[in-house]
Amino acid sequence: MSRGGAAGERTFHASPAFLVRAVDMGEADRRLTFFTRDAGVVSILAKSAWRSRKRFGGLLQRYVLLDIVWTETAGRMPVLSTASVSESFWTIVEDWERVRHADYLLELAAEMFPQEGAKPRAFGMLLEGIRALAAGEAPGKAARRVEAAFLGIGGWGPDLSGCRKCGRADSRWYRFVPPEGGALCESCATGAGVKLSLGAVKTWKALQAGGEAARERLRVPDGIADELRDVIPCYIEYCLGKQLRSLGGAQ
Ligand SMILES: [Zn+2]
Repeated sequence: MSRGGAAGERTFHASPAFLVRAVDMGEADRRLTFFTRDAGVVSILAKSAWRSRKRFGGLLQRYVLLDIVWTETAGRMPVLSTASVSESFWTIVEDWERVRHADYLLELAAEMFPQEGAKPRAFGMLLEGIRALAAGEAPGKAARRVEAAFLGIGGWGPDLSGCRKCGRADSRWYRFVPPEGGALCESCATGAGVKLSLGAVKTWKALQAGGEAARERLRVPDGIADELRDVIPCYIEYCLGKQLRSLGGAQ
């Protein structure tokens, strides 16, 4: 949301947000990168006052759903006005695997949806994933759900309706080949790509297609979660054309 003014005037913006990263700037200021529902990725300057622990405590932390307000002036970095906690997910910091996966989901959101503008579906999925981690869902399974949904929202697919070459949908196994944008059946596979069971392909397809309710009902067996761990993050890196920092070992 924004309340605009004439050119050169300050405009005010507000959105639910997650803090993705914070970088110190000079002696006192910090540059905060948020993933927001209503403006996507925004880098915002937090003036020195925001560092005062007495005033703001642990407000500007990760794993907390915030409501932030910031001001923008043409040619300048946006400046944080206020921030308040909307929902806390403190149980994430009780477990290192949850922390690593929460960091991964935050990075993933910012990397997969860097364009300006509202991102309600991606933001909703990120929130769902952070909530699931805080509620104690197996971190790897929560991450696969978010990854599959992000790929679908971002339009990366993949097409999992059948073999990319012959269309066969009942092969016992497939090989997932990123440049094909999908998988090849046992007859068409050449040895390239990563082997996936039919169950893993079907599960990925269901994760991609389902709404929140469907995803929550879907039970992903451990074996299939392991198969998908070896494929989905790699496909995301292939789509992005870069490696994800927090992915190393975070799968
Ligand atoms: Zn085939």
